[in-house]
Amino acid sequence: MKRVKGQLPARRLLFLMAVVSLAGAASAQEWGSERSIDRLTEHVYRWGADGQNGMLVVTPEGAVVADGHYCGRGHVPWLKSEIESRFGVPVRYVVLSHDHQSHICETEVFADTAIAVGHRNLLPHLVREGRRALIPQVTFEESLDIDLGGVKVTLIYLGPLHSDNLIQVHVPAEGVLYAPDFARGTNIFPDFRDMDVDNMLDALLTAGHMPDVEMVIPGHGNLKTQDNFLVYRRYLVSIREQVLAHMVASRTLDEIHGLVTMEEFRGEYNISDASLRNNIDSMYDYLYRYREPNSPAGLPVRAVD
Ligand SMILES: [Zn+2]
Repeated sequence: MKRVKGQLPARRLLFLMAVVSLAGAASAQEWGSERSIDRLTEHVYRWGADGQNGMLVVTPEGAVVADGHYCGRGHVPWLKSEIESRFGVPVRYVVLSHDHQSHICETEVFADTAIAVGHRNLLPHLVREGRRALIPQVTFEESLDIDLGGVKVTLIYLGPLHSDNLIQVHVPAEGVLYAPDFARGTNIFPDFRDMDVDNMLDALLTAGHMPDVEMVIPGHGNLKTQDNFLVYRRYLVSIREQVLAHMVASRTLDEIHGLVTMEEFRGEYNISDASLRNNIDSMYDYLYRYREPNSPAGLPVRAVD
């Protein structure tokens, strides 16, 4: 594990009771579309606007900001001035959860006081795609601890998930995990085109049972619990198994569209006909990457050189 340090000796604080009671209070919290900074635990805040969230950790030695926001909305410059006026500390670290522009834009406003941190795979995307963000000076492969003002913020890479560089941001002493575009719950992904589905299944299980997680800040929507990972995993397991079973039975993609309706998930999960169609298309494509479909005559489906 890599480690970067602020200063100060570690402080042991009695968080547990406060965290449990705050988790109960916060789970009922509705975050509207207005810009806001919402305190969750002693040092950890959710910040966000327009239904999209980032995380803020405030310590006596400075702040850690996880993620920017959409381009051109001014949300991140607003966050910077709020941190200055409310807390009077500089932002020392900017964590980039993944390379998607809508989550990291305008983080360059922190260049005067902060260094950016992200996964090793993030950097080539930022450069090639010309993303607008604070470019990381520190990257890591598996995990990295930021120690600042007596608070430990752990960055965790669980392998390729949604993009090849998505990380989780954990403050274990306060039981908070920031899991953008990973804690989906009943809000299904539009498709699986930038997802490693099999690794996602493993990682959702890992996150669903990770210790020291009392509350989960998703990338979009209100505060979640850890069960959220397992709820989404149930959908992902089911659609993967159903599409695969039909492929094994030599059914075409057109036939599979008519057969995989996910009826048992509708109502509870947020499934539109368009997103289900894209889910089936991209799951079929994902599964086809490593297996040859059966054909009725036992002949190759496509000529192989
Ligand atoms: Zn994303």
